[in-house]
Amino acid sequence: MYSVRMRAEKGGRHISGAERLVSEEEIQDSVQSLTGRALSHERGKPDFVNISVEAVKSPVKNLASLPVILHNAGNVMEGRNAARRTLEFLGIPGFCIQKALSLLENGPSDGQSMRGAIIMDMQGNRLEPDRERGVRATRMDITEKAAGELTKSLSGKGLSSYFTHVKEALVLATKVASIDGTVAELCWSDDPYYTAGYVASGRTGYIRIPYLKENGDSHGGRVFFVDNINIPGYINEIENKPVLIDRFAGIREFTDFHTI
Ligand code: AMP
Repeated sequence: MYSVRMRAEKGGRHISGAERLVSEEEIQDSVQSLTGRALSHERGKPDFVNISVEAVKSPVKNLASLPVILHNAGNVMEGRNAARRTLEFLGIPGFCIQKALSLLENGPSDGQSMRGAIIMDMQGNRLEPDRERGVRATRMDITEKAAGELTKSLSGKGLSSYFTHVKEALVLATKVASIDGTVAELCWSDDPYYTAGYVASGRTGYIRIPYLKENGDSHGGRVFFVDNINIPGYINEIENKPVLIDRFAGIREFTDFHTI
């Protein structure tokens, strides 16, 4: 298999990025579609696009996706409360939750977004070696069959227009949750018009929260909460271990923590 990755910049600032994990016959099509994405992002026309194609040497791990759980928060306050309660349910100390929320709210890299994620331990320490870049999860994708099941489920819930966002986030969250040492992940986009985000973990599934920030706010990011990790080993798995999601685990409404 091959990892095909795209990143687009304008004036040195990150605009968009995406990736696929494909067979040799699919390389050309995926290069074309990723180029199209780079050139048509709502954040603007890039002046630099990098597309890389790289043979994946280690064996690909096949996984079922996390189940998608839809939270019905009606505004940002309810959304943040839902995120806080889920992270508490997973045993993350309150001061770590507060620190993570304010980092994402204010822009984790001196008021700016990071390209990758924060890694935070249970003492609230940030473990990512580069605080501007963060750690990027890569080498992951979803099969057409599993993506088709996700499309169908989302359209049954009236969420078809969010397919690409949810698909990519679910793939990333499933990979991150599968790595030893991950307790939970918190994410909301830095895309100013995408207000949804999620808390994900192996125990709870992928809890999609429709409002984690106000419309028009360009602050966002990701935090991987971890416990007991070997930092280089953990980062190596996040960045390099190839993961292919080949089954979709379904979608349902959030009711309460006892049914998770
Ligand atoms: P997005 O959901 O694409 O808007 O990304 C939201 C935030 O998540 C970005 O600002 C980055 O900080 C982080 N992020 C994006 N892609 C990745 C990735 N592949 N691995 C880790 N963090 C990422």
